Amino acid sequence: MKTAVFSGPGRLAVEERPIPELGAGDLLLRVRAASICGTDLRILRHGHFKLPEGTPRVLGHEVAGEVAAVGDRVTGFGVGDRLAVAPNIGCGACALCARGRNQLCPDYEAFGVTLDGGFQEYMLVPARALARGNVFRVPSTMPLDVAPLMEPAACCLHGQRAVGIGPGDDVVIIGAGPIGCLHALLAKRAGAARVIIANRRQSRLDIAGRLGADVLINATDADVHDEVMGLTDGRGADVVLTCVSSPEVIAGATDLLARAGRLNVFSGLGDAARPQIDVNALHYREIVMTGTTGARNQDFADGLELLADDSALLAELVSRRFGLEDIAAAVAHATSGSGMKPMITSPGASDPA
Ligand SMILES: [Zn+2]
Ligand SMILES: [Zn+2]
Repeated sequence: MKTAVFSGPGRLAVEERPIPELGAGDLLLRVRAASICGTDLRILRHGHFKLPEGTPRVLGHEVAGEVAAVGDRVTGFGVGDRLAVAPNIGCGACALCARGRNQLCPDYEAFGVTLDGGFQEYMLVPARALARGNVFRVPSTMPLDVAPLMEPAACCLHGQRAVGIGPGDDVVIIGAGPIGCLHALLAKRAGAARVIIANRRQSRLDIAGRLGADVLINATDADVHDEVMGLTDGRGADVVLTCVSSPEVIAGATDLLARAGRLNVFSGLGDAARPQIDVNALHYREIVMTGTTGARNQDFADGLELLADDSALLAELVSRRFGLEDIAAAVAHATSGSGMKPMITSPGASDPA
């Protein structure tokens, strides 16, 4: 089978490998679609702390496909089932796993990091991923080449739950990449009064608008703070979600918030300088500031249910499709920021169930 193997920073090659062998409790997924995400790009550039130097790895943690084979002891899944996989497998034994917070498990494993992921023709799903609830059925209304987006969607849903978006809220989203756009869609589904989204690229804002954002702010020629204050009669937003890796944006986010506003620092900063946070804003205006990373398996399940009929909107986030052999071009497309997400697909992945 064809695989795209990462073997160290800057090294990605398409190679032939034998199809993985199945244990009695394992499942073999015929990958139909896998999207490239910022995390893949970061691993490609810098490696990953969970990936010892020189370990070859198939990346790709946003993945969907059909069951090609199941081990003798697998129950509940059969050949042909359409599945999506939540990448972070908790240990199943620690206090965080016991509370359903598998994405915070200190001993987590992850497809595309510690286990081979979706950029290959067949992916082994080990028994422990099935046992710990990381495997989900894709609704029949959702084509498989949209289903990988349920991974970032689950992360966004998790992030919104941490700040409690509900009816009447004015929500400001900074950044209209795939993540900002998914936030816009989910915030509207949660009943937000207005979703206000800012970005420098008009093409991205236009997509955010199609996904439900009410107000599009092009930050090249407008001041985001002035716009938000104008729109809210000087009150500020109820919720701010920062979806760009910029210390300045995070430092300025408290100024966008109303009293008792809630802030989610949704994107990490990598090596960038740590911003100064206005602690007095937190204190005197009772602002709640948090961050979230990844998603619980429960968020993945809920996201699938919530967005089951939104495939056409979700497909707006796929700007180009590539075959696995063209993964280098797909990585270049993702890196350029010129579109939205590249999807690695095989023929027929757009077909309905
Ligand atoms: Zn991702
Ligand atoms: Zn654990």
